[in-house]
Amino acid sequence: MIDLRSDTLTRPTPGMLAAMAAAPVGDDVYAEDPTVNALEARVAALLGHEAGLFCATGSLANLLGVWLLVPPGAEVVCDVRAHIARAEMGAHGALHGVTMRTWDSRDGVADAATIERLITPDAGPYLVSTAAVALENTHNFGGGTVQPFAHLAEVSALCRDAGVGLHLDGARLWNAHVATGVALADYGRLFDTVNVCFSKGLGAPVGSMLVSSRQNIARARVQRKRLGAGWRQAGVLAAAAGYALDHHLPRLGEDHVAAAAFATEVAAAAPEAVRLGAVTTNIVVMDTGRQTAAEVVAAASRAGVALSAVGARQVRGVTHQEVSIDEATTAGRLVGAVLAGVPAA
Ligand SMILES: *Cc1c(COP(=O)(O)O)cnc(C)c1O
Repeated sequence: MIDLRSDTLTRPTPGMLAAMAAAPVGDDVYAEDPTVNALEARVAALLGHEAGLFCATGSLANLLGVWLLVPPGAEVVCDVRAHIARAEMGAHGALHGVTMRTWDSRDGVADAATIERLITPDAGPYLVSTAAVALENTHNFGGGTVQPFAHLAEVSALCRDAGVGLHLDGARLWNAHVATGVALADYGRLFDTVNVCFSKGLGAPVGSMLVSSRQNIARARVQRKRLGAGWRQAGVLAAAAGYALDHHLPRLGEDHVAAAAFATEVAAAAPEAVRLGAVTTNIVVMDTGRQTAAEVVAAASRAGVALSAVGARQVRGVTHQEVSIDEATTAGRLVGAVLAGVPAA
């Protein structure tokens, strides 16, 4: 089985496990884990921020990032397919009293004019006040889409002028950085709060980082503990993340080549299913046409490729370090045949 369901499936390599075993550790609730402290400082600096908070999941880092910017009863606005809106189990509302409104987009690409029309800062007693905007880069359900830097800069200026916070869900910001060559800090500095994940294409077993100002991170540290998510010798996990930055960040481009190879084969058999121009990182979202997503997932599985359904008629394939370019090409041929409704040759 060629497993393209997600880049979260990646397992720690022997080198990563060795780094984890060798890590000096301490109690992180006392801020005494040297490996966690070093990773927090390293990633904050990489992203052009003062401080970082190592978290168990990207959902937790997003939850805390949005909480820093949005008081109860106010709203964060985001894309209709944003992970914070679709895939975090309503946590922002259920736990923090945050409401959401969404804009629609092509492939998840954010544009400032749409956002400007939607936001209502300081709306007084009649409308919900917009306290923050949240963007995603790359955009997962949009198809691994890289946000054009000029758009991000415009949204950042808009939010600053309007007095509205700006959060980045950068679960795969690494992929955007590799695809564009834009420095991580140039992305990071446009935002008040940023989440990045080590557990996706970087291949660490666990972990995400929230970065922001020193004052914000001190507040987030308290709220993390309040949520029951303080942890102790987390350095074993921070060591995996640090190892991933050293050894796996430089190879992410291979995943992009593999995704392009996969999509090219799909498009050759089923041109309606995928727009090649939209495939720029490690995610390929495909339209299933007359078949349902569930039917395509089942047929692809019988053919030897695991995909995930991301909508009623949309499926997703994600490349990662456990899938070679050859395997991705083979998978594309098999999935293309499924989408075209013909048996694979
Ligand atoms: C995976 C992901 C997250 C965080 O997911 P966790 O499973 O909670 O670590 C956040 N945003 C996006 C876009 C993601 O793909």
